[in-house]
Amino acid sequence: MPPTNFRLPGPTPLPPAVLDAMQAPMISHRGSDFKARYREILRLARLAHRTEGDVLIWPASGSAGWEAAIVNLLSPGDPVLATVCGDFGERFAKVAVAFGLDVRRLDVAPGRAIAPDLVTAALDAHPGVKAVFVAHNETSTGVTNPLPALARAIRDHGALVIVDAVSGVGALPLETDTWGLDFVFSGSQKAWMCPPGLLIAAVGPRAWDAHKSARFPRFFWDLTAAKTQATEGMTPTTPALTLLFAFHAALEMIEAEGLAAVWARHRALGELTRAGVAGLGLDLFADPAFASDSVTAFRPPAGVDASAFVAAVTAHGTELQVGQGDLRERLVRIGHMGWAHEPDLRDALAAIGAALPDLGVQPAARRDALAPALAPA
Ligand code: PLP
Repeated sequence: MPPTNFRLPGPTPLPPAVLDAMQAPMISHRGSDFKARYREILRLARLAHRTEGDVLIWPASGSAGWEAAIVNLLSPGDPVLATVCGDFGERFAKVAVAFGLDVRRLDVAPGRAIAPDLVTAALDAHPGVKAVFVAHNETSTGVTNPLPALARAIRDHGALVIVDAVSGVGALPLETDTWGLDFVFSGSQKAWMCPPGLLIAAVGPRAWDAHKSARFPRFFWDLTAAKTQATEGMTPTTPALTLLFAFHAALEMIEAEGLAAVWARHRALGELTRAGVAGLGLDLFADPAFASDSVTAFRPPAGVDASAFVAAVTAHGTELQVGQGDLRERLVRIGHMGWAHEPDLRDALAAIGAALPDLGVQPAARRDALAPALAPA
C-alpha cells in the first residue's frame, strides 16, 4: 500500500520544514531568543493577513476564535447578525446564543454563498446590529463567501466584520486592511500547514475601539493582555513553543513562495479538482460561482453513503472526508489547502476513479471524461 494521500480539509499534511522545526528543544519563553522569534512570527503573520494592524496568537483550536471575538468585542445582549450557509456558520450562531447575544440569523441553503444584498436587507431591517459573523470559507459545503462585498455591506451599516477564516486565510485571497475586516481568526491546522493547536487572529482598529467598551468578562482571551505582552515579544501565558516553531517555518515557506503565488496555486488546485470530480460524473455541491479553492465538496454516487465512498477511496491510497451535520452521509470533501500540489490532487482523482467500480459504479465513460483534467499540464 503506497503512503496515504492525506486529503482532509484539515488537519492538512505537514511539510518537511515544519516537521523539522518541531524537533527543536525548548527555550525560555521569557528569553531574548524567544522574544526575537515571536516578533518575527507576528511580522510574517501580519504579511500573510495583509494587515498593518495586530496579529495575536493563543494556544487553542480554531473554534476558540468565535469565543475570543465575542468576549473581546461585544457585551451581553448586543444584537448581532449570524450569516449561516453551512455547519460552521451554524456553530458561530450557536456560540453567540450561548453567550447571551441577541442573535438574528441570515440563512441560505447549504451549497450557496451569502449574497451581499441579503446582508444589506437584514441590516436595514435590524439597524442596531453591532457585529456580523461571516465564514470566509464554509468548509462544510466547499463555498467561499464574497468577503469584500459582504464587508462593504456590513461596514456601510456601521457593524463590525467578524470573520471565521479558518479554512480561508493562507489559501484564498484575503485583504484584512483593504477589505476592512475587523477581526479575522484561523486555526493552525488548515492552510497554515501546521498541526492543530494555534488560534491566530488579526485585529483591526475598529475592533480595538469596540474592545474598549466591551463588557463580557474575559481573561485567557483578553486582547489587551495579549497585545501588551506581544509588544514585549511575549505571550501572557506559556506559549505553545513547538507549534510556534512550526508556524514560523510555515510562514517562512509562504513568504518564500510569495502570497500571490500561494493564492494562485490554490486557485489552480481548485479548478483541477472540480474538473476532475465533474469529469468522473460526480456532482459538485457548491454553487460554481462561489466554489472554494481550498476544499471541494461533492455528492457520492446515488445509493452510496459518504462513509462507504470514503472507505473505498482510502483503499486506493487517498483519504478524503465525509460531510458534516445533516450532510454527513450526503457529501464527500477533498481538501486542497496548505501543502498541496498538483500531483497530490491528480493522485486523489485517480484514486476516486479507481474506487468507483468497487462501489458498483461504472466508470468507463467517466475515465475518458477525466482524461483532460488528468492530462499532464
Ligand atoms: N471554522 C471553520 C470554517 C472550520 O473549517 C473549522 C474546522 O474545520 C472551525 C471553524 C473549527 O476549528 P477547530 O476544529 O480548529 O476548532
